Amino acid sequence: KPLIFSGVQPTGNLHLGNYLGAIRKFVALQETMDCIYCVVDLHSLTAQLVHEDLKDQTRQITAAFLAAGIDPDKHIVFNQSRVMQHAELAWIFNCVARIGWMNRMTQFKDKAGKDRENASLGLLAYPSLMAADILVYRATHVPVGDDQKQHLELTRDIAQKFNNDFSHRIAELGVGVEIQMGDETVNGFFPLTEPVIGGPAARIMSLRDGSKKMSKSDPSDLSRINLTDDADTISKKIKKAKTDPEALPSEIAGLASRPEAENLVGIYAGLADTSKEAVLKEYGGQQFSVFKPALADLAVEKMAPIAGEMRRLMADPGHIDGVLRNGGERAGVLAEANMKTVRDIIGLLQG
Ligand code: ATP
Ligand code: MG
Repeated sequence: KPLIFSGVQPTGNLHLGNYLGAIRKFVALQETMDCIYCVVDLHSLTAQLVHEDLKDQTRQITAAFLAAGIDPDKHIVFNQSRVMQHAELAWIFNCVARIGWMNRMTQFKDKAGKDRENASLGLLAYPSLMAADILVYRATHVPVGDDQKQHLELTRDIAQKFNNDFSHRIAELGVGVEIQMGDETVNGFFPLTEPVIGGPAARIMSLRDGSKKMSKSDPSDLSRINLTDDADTISKKIKKAKTDPEALPSEIAGLASRPEAENLVGIYAGLADTSKEAVLKEYGGQQFSVFKPALADLAVEKMAPIAGEMRRLMADPGHIDGVLRNGGERAGVLAEANMKTVRDIIGLLQG
């Protein structure tokens, strides 16, 4: 049975990329699937260990989930650290995964910078915890931005190696399910989870540099549009966004070597829920002096209601904490049931 899992780190201000690449998909998927949405606070320790407003940022992300329309009664919303089985399975996956797999991750290379020997072990092992987040529920689908594609591939590699290394134990205990691998069917405990990526906004780039993705942790606030920016700030940031002096092309091919222009067209398409082609049909031949104000208006129109609802929710932190506590209890039951089996498969002495 399909099950959705995804997470967002409490590492700072949520931005348009998080919304269009991830949170908006969370909302769409909850109509037809069972979903678990997590504020991954343990992951955020890899960016900043001592964190004055970790609690507040955890509430902020939760408020954004709820303001965007996620229903915490029908689905599960919680913060990762409440369910210790994530960390437990991550440890087991640390022993399944290989150091070489982690060293190849582009997110690690980007975030560790030049002095890789001095990066925390947690930053290197980040994808192992992410695999545990997903597989502790045996989730089948993960809506994410394009930047997480590589981590999802690694999640499948870990699941496959675990299934393979313990195949005899899984069969002996009779806890396996049929798993499709290409045109082969194998017996395994963990599914080979699929990413749900796509659309014109799967990778929104920084407004200051078309070669870098928009990020919460980018030190420049001008690089991103925050979910909570007011109308003036949004307009100012879009006006200041880096572009080239040419008019917009009428065909998608005309965006090929113009990453900044392509990014703004992608943002417009994402916000308007249409394609880049359709945006160019409307704005092809126009200058940025026309396109940018139109984009700013659209962004304000779509984002302002979410920001307003977030502010309303943030005024009652007790309510948000209650949502997370309740979600954590329900998630914990599911996670523990799977972990009991994992401990059995491995042969840890329990009971
Ligand atoms: P950080 O810089 O701290 O890693 P982030 O902006 O990358 O922050 P995450 O919490 O790591 O945010 O990611 C949350 C979700 O948002 C993930 O699914 C990720 O793929 C998606 N996402 C992040 N940045 C973008 C972006 N620029 N475009 C589209 N999706 C994005
Ligand atoms: Mg990130």
